[in-house]
Amino acid sequence: MYKNILYNLYNKALNGRNGIDDLVKFQFIILIVLTILDIFLDSYIVGLLQLITMITIGYRFMSKNLYKRVKENQIYNNIRYGIISPFKNIIRRIKDRKHLYKKCSCGTTIKTPLPKKRGIKHTTCPNCGKRNRIIALRKKK
Ligand SMILES: [Zn+2]
Repeated sequence: MYKNILYNLYNKALNGRNGIDDLVKFQFIILIVLTILDIFLDSYIVGLLQLITMITIGYRFMSKNLYKRVKENQIYNNIRYGIISPFKNIIRRIKDRKHLYKKCSCGTTIKTPLPKKRGIKHTTCPNCGKRNRIIALRKKK
């Protein structure tokens, strides 16, 4: 009951406003980092950056120009994706303990299950048919 009333009040207050999106979340992280920096550095620049971040958070949070805010958020997400995506494959390969990966000269990445024995293994590329050598340092458990 109370939860519903609070929820309705919250919705009314934020009706037509941008609220929290990915960019606002990122700005909060920046604000936290700046606050930590502020403890160690007694600098006007850090304080000024904190103030600017706080103002932009408030502005973006309460803004009614949703079209512009959504666009800003999209730009931010595109940049973030561009930074993270090259590392995503590397992280996935490190986490994957059951397969071996090898990049063929044609550009395709070949994924094969771990062999029963350690050593040199051969696989055929499904794209160009070239035989590739994989050195297996791990074996199936
Ligand atoms: Zn190939």
